[in-house]
Amino acid sequence: MSGSDFRTVILDFDNTLYDWVAQWYYSFSAMLGEIHRISGIPLDVLKEQIRAIHQKHHTSEYAFLIEHLDIIRDGSVEATIAKYRPAIEKFREARTKHLVLYPGVMDTLINLRSSGKTLVVFTESQTFYTVMRFKHFGLDGLIDFLFTSDDHETPDNNYLEKIRSRPSEYYEIQNTKHRSVGKGRLKPDPAILRQIIDEVGSTQRNSVYVGDSLYKDVLMAKEARVFGVWAQYGEARGQPGYDLLREVSHWTDEDVERDRSLKKRDVKANAILKTGFPELLGLNGL
Ligand SMILES: [Mg+2]
Repeated sequence: MSGSDFRTVILDFDNTLYDWVAQWYYSFSAMLGEIHRISGIPLDVLKEQIRAIHQKHHTSEYAFLIEHLDIIRDGSVEATIAKYRPAIEKFREARTKHLVLYPGVMDTLINLRSSGKTLVVFTESQTFYTVMRFKHFGLDGLIDFLFTSDDHETPDNNYLEKIRSRPSEYYEIQNTKHRSVGKGRLKPDPAILRQIIDEVGSTQRNSVYVGDSLYKDVLMAKEARVFGVWAQYGEARGQPGYDLLREVSHWTDEDVERDRSLKKRDVKANAILKTGFPELLGLNGL
């Protein structure tokens, strides 16, 4: 597409800017290993019960897993949490270590921003965790717009009040414009992308979309007639940890079936980033 001039760069978040699967895997498996060690309960049994909790709360990142895991209950909830404190600590330690942007992401974003591009991030993941990570990575203010979905924002009543230990500003975006695409909107619906492009004041022709899922991100871009870039380096399937995720995830049979039918489509990206995000700078028009 030579001669084009992309002014708006729209980015998927998880596994495009950072390795969500890796940070999930390392923190979850460290916690699971400790629960197994302390309780002596077989891993298979633990995994099955954990999956039921994730499904009930529609998330694979449930902050109150230990207190809801009946099989390890030993006395009061408080006593159980105290007993499994090392598991929570291992989880946090691993998360801190692995919650990092992919190499070159920050420099590439700064480069794009300084050449006058409008930067947009869109994710259908839980808003709470997205905002926390967005700020942790130092993206607040560097990215012009963040779009999240309202879906399953909180697993149950008062979840956010229980999870928050700092003042509410800590958990809010200060400088990036934070918008919602609405409830129950899922990739690869091209209407979502057209809505985002409209809201940021751009056009399909002047926009480029980057994401790690060929069948969700790139397909959405193609169907919206937007230049679709496949962040192949971030593809989650086949990574270590993906099998464990599948075993304990909240995904329903319906989700798995939907995923399977999407993969029957023949999707061709307009460009592929093989080694990493910085390759984006080599794209014609950027
Ligand atoms: Mg992704």
